[in-house]
Amino acid sequence: MKPSRLAIITHGHADHARPGHDHVIATPDTIEIIKRRYGENCAKTFEALEYGVEKKIKDVTISLHPAGHVLGSAQVLLQYQGYRAVMTGDYKARPDSTCASFEVVPCDLFVTEATFGLPVFQHPDSADEIKKLLKAREEQPERAFLIGAYALGKAQRVIKLIREEGYDRPIYIHGALKKLCEFYQERGINLGELRSPTGLKKDDFHGEIVVGPPSALKDQWSRRFPDPVVAYASGWMTIKQRARQSGVELPLVISDHADWNELTETIKATGASKIWVTHGREDALVHYCRSIGLEAEPLYLQGRDDEED
Ligand SMILES: [Zn+2]
Ligand SMILES: [Zn+2]
Repeated sequence: MKPSRLAIITHGHADHARPGHDHVIATPDTIEIIKRRYGENCAKTFEALEYGVEKKIKDVTISLHPAGHVLGSAQVLLQYQGYRAVMTGDYKARPDSTCASFEVVPCDLFVTEATFGLPVFQHPDSADEIKKLLKAREEQPERAFLIGAYALGKAQRVIKLIREEGYDRPIYIHGALKKLCEFYQERGINLGELRSPTGLKKDDFHGEIVVGPPSALKDQWSRRFPDPVVAYASGWMTIKQRARQSGVELPLVISDHADWNELTETIKATGASKIWVTHGREDALVHYCRSIGLEAEPLYLQGRDDEED
């Protein structure tokens, strides 16, 4: 991804938002998030565009619509002479109380991500996954519960889900999550009392819940906790082998991306006749679209690896 004169940024994840552009158009929350991650001067100029507000650039009208992925995340609708094209960026269709809910935007061309674009990916109810965590905690009160979750979106959603199950003890967070948790709180998303584990003793963490970025699960940082149960909140935890290989004892299948059913239902709901599939498991979804009579093509992006989730 090279810096460009004008960048429309769908959300603040590193694989979608890069510093160095001249002019950035994004939702107000996404602009705030990228400034906090990359610095106030990470682009020359910023233009906040609220959901649903149209802006004309030459002959094309653009507007942003909720993608339900993380705070501020947007799909981009482009309209040109009555033709409507939607780029989803990353999205999920199920509710998430830490961001605006996904909106189906009727269109002719739908460019969809396909991170979990295989029928094997059927994400369970997130609340049930959190119940598993809280049950394990009751059963093993001597151990600390260390949850790996990406710093933007997943960490805040996991904390919010834990709160929604009635857990009101302080939750300990790694320093890498601090700025973004604060921003979510400022935006009215109540994450309850968050504390830093720094300076506390091993004995202080029996039965406590700690959230950190996935990279911290294996490093020095995790050794301060007593016999931790390592949990990891990700759609990738559907693949048990992957959980085992990364030393995860308690896989939590909590995803910020659409699963197979959300992808196929959303494609149908847009009414689009042409589907471009990108950003993941293109082939299965392209095949599915063609099987229901839609025109579909894979759109391979360069230099892509497995999506973080
Ligand atoms: Zn993302
Ligand atoms: Zn992505």
